[in-house]
Amino acid sequence: MALSNYTELLAYAKEHKITIGAFNALNMEILQALVAAADKKNAPIIVQTYHKHVDFAGADYMRAIALAASECSKVKIAMGLDHGRSYEQARLCVEAGYSGVMIDLASEDYEYNVRETCRVVEIAHARGVSVEAELGTISDADRTPEEIAKGYTDPEVARRFVKDTGIDCLAVSVGTAHGEYKYEPRINFELLKELVDTVSCPIVVHGGSGTPDEEVAKMVRMGVAKLNVGTDFFNAYNDALYRFYQEHTPHCDIADALAEARAAVERVALQKLDVLTRFRV
Ligand SMILES: [Zn+2]
Repeated sequence: MALSNYTELLAYAKEHKITIGAFNALNMEILQALVAAADKKNAPIIVQTYHKHVDFAGADYMRAIALAASECSKVKIAMGLDHGRSYEQARLCVEAGYSGVMIDLASEDYEYNVRETCRVVEIAHARGVSVEAELGTISDADRTPEEIAKGYTDPEVARRFVKDTGIDCLAVSVGTAHGEYKYEPRINFELLKELVDTVSCPIVVHGGSGTPDEEVAKMVRMGVAKLNVGTDFFNAYNDALYRFYQEHTPHCDIADALAEARAAVERVALQKLDVLTRFRV
């Protein structure tokens, strides 16, 4: 089937009390692994490309692979841009046929963030493409919980931002971080609950890699609509390739090496989807 937009998937998540996995891919094998896992779990997913990986792989190529995967899949698949860094990059992905784009101008001042996000919303919504934006600072995972807490999203500003921009979902900072955690993440569930309950659009949490399953399950229960995961898949992919080449000659069949990496990513995706669909109704 054709690609679905975020709005469709996030509505499904609400109805069935699941959280949509928004999983990062930058090549065909990773994307195939993610969609295969989604199919096995009968759970719709968002496949997304990090902004730097759009530069690496090309938006047209990634969209074509996602579309091919979606056409072979029995579950709904969306294709998104993750942490789009400018209006121009978001537009590039909208024009390439992505079904969702994130515009991340959280480090800019409020007025600029609103103005540029509105420009993205305008071109995206005209084509039925969903828009995610971010408020607060989602830190890198080598920071202490105290440092991460300095970037928490202000719920009052979040409510205003969603009204000012008309976005479809909002990424918030509540204690998770990007990459591999150096310290155990400390999630502010009280803040997360306020955001989920009072902001007028679905709430997105980033930094799903390495966050303990029980913490993720709590977020699912609270109604977090979308959880972003990247690092855990990339590490599984790299580890599998590394192991494979230690055990084989460098001139072995590439397909054998990639098959191992693809299977490793699929195992991680299945495990993530288990938690994200734990309370499904
Ligand atoms: Zn992120």
